[in-house]
Amino acid sequence: MAGRLTIIGGGVMGLMTAYHAAPLAESVTVLDRSRVGDPATASFGLTRSVRNDYRDAEYARLAFEARRLWREFERECGRRLLVDCGCLNLVKGTVTPDLASTYAVESYAILEQLQLRREAFSGAQLRERFPQFDADGGWLDVDAGFADLAAVTQALREGLDARGVRVAENTEPRRITRSGGTWTVATDSGPLESDVLVVTAGLGTNDVLGLLPGCPVRFPLRPDRPTQSKYFIPKAGSRAMFTETTMPVFAYLDIGIYGHPVYEGKTPGVKIGFYNPPDVARTPSRIGSVEEFVAECIPGLRDAEVVDVATASGVDTCWYDLVADDEFILGAVPGADGLYTGVGWRGTGYKFAPWVGRVLAQLALQQGTVYDIGRFTPARFAAEGVALWGCQSWTGCGRAPCSAPRATSSSWNDAATSRRARSCPRWSSTFPTRCGSCTGSSCARART
Ligand SMILES: Cc1cc2nc3c(=O)[nH]c(=O)nc-3n(C[C@H](O)[C@H](O)[C@H](O)COP(=O)(O)OP(=O)(O)OC[C@H]3O[C@@H](n4cnc5c(N)ncnc54)[C@H](O)[C@@H]3O)c2cc1C
Repeated sequence: MAGRLTIIGGGVMGLMTAYHAAPLAESVTVLDRSRVGDPATASFGLTRSVRNDYRDAEYARLAFEARRLWREFERECGRRLLVDCGCLNLVKGTVTPDLASTYAVESYAILEQLQLRREAFSGAQLRERFPQFDADGGWLDVDAGFADLAAVTQALREGLDARGVRVAENTEPRRITRSGGTWTVATDSGPLESDVLVVTAGLGTNDVLGLLPGCPVRFPLRPDRPTQSKYFIPKAGSRAMFTETTMPVFAYLDIGIYGHPVYEGKTPGVKIGFYNPPDVARTPSRIGSVEEFVAECIPGLRDAEVVDVATASGVDTCWYDLVADDEFILGAVPGADGLYTGVGWRGTGYKFAPWVGRVLAQLALQQGTVYDIGRFTPARFAAEGVALWGCQSWTGCGRAPCSAPRATSSSWNDAATSRRARSCPRWSSTFPTRCGSCTGSSCARART
């Protein structure tokens, strides 16, 4: 056995890490300052899109790999976790006249390039196949749909229980130290010792890093959330048109729209969100709200009852964890032995959870991962203080502590920001926005 593992953060990323790590480790403990499934956490909700239709081929490939791992997890737990209704990207000339450069067309080209299952519909074909929509075209990511979050959380709880993982809820870490190759997390209910530490604390990740005396590493994370998220509750007579058996997950991301069908017996209506990420150049259009989108593209919901998702179901009050350079942060924390993190999922992380869990488990317990995660390295935010911190406090190199002043978190952030400003033409020095003129595919990724 490779050792003892502590995971700080019991959202879907921490729990998936524990699930994958348990067969490899002597012991696994998940520690969370709140509780698994707390409504304030990003992993709490009813449905999350699971899709491959990114404009960036690497994210598309990883989403598809994650889907394979979801299927594996479904077989192991004996539950249905993914609902495969497909994901349809819409286009309408009166909304975004330049059809060729829409998210739908560009992401479809990536699906084609990767040979993932897909279907394209002209306006007439769309009306026949998906009469719910009034649009000029639809591009369908076939192996897509949404995850049933309650089922996932339940499956993880049972799976972790069966694998002997301890989940310590309502346990606040107070201080984290390393000595002689052992991590000690001090909590109110006593110390917790391990050989390896994984931090999957979402927007609380920098708080956890702040518990490591002298650690200068902080990640440029920022909370954000959709401006609108509403249920459109169809009239009884037309409801059957809008459930997961007939309607796909849908999106018109150029104008910030995404939606989920009614999940019969679990959600009251068609969920439609409106979100314009601060880092994505939005295509100007006359659609400024979910109601305007429905009026334009889903005629059968024009007379639906409309309720706020949070008010109706108490879900999705949580926040996205945006990253300054709009890439996941996944890998070893620079300057420390046996410390790994996964954070910065930018509102799109849930679908990747089994893949993230597998990567972190491999890093923590198998000295490396079979996946190429160089792009996501936390070390891209490293600062000069990191070497000093690693030498003095953690790696036990045996040298006398250096008396030079350490980088503070703010000076580290400044250093990281100015370094990226030099190297990335898209970077704006005012975190976290892009320069605003960027229209490249790498910065116009889907959330959801
Ligand atoms: C409204 C909304 C809609 C979304 N829609 C989609 C979607 O459709 N598709 C998709 O793929 N993704 C979606 N996402 C993103 C996805 O839900 C998240 O990326 C994912 O749930 C993140 O999981 P996590 O485990 O990193 O974070 P969390 O679930 O937030 O878990 C972090 C955990 O760390 C704990 N913690 C924090 N600080 C500390 C501390 N100091 N000490 C101990 N514990 C701590 C918290 O209590 C929490 O339990 C959405 C997110 C939101 C908010």
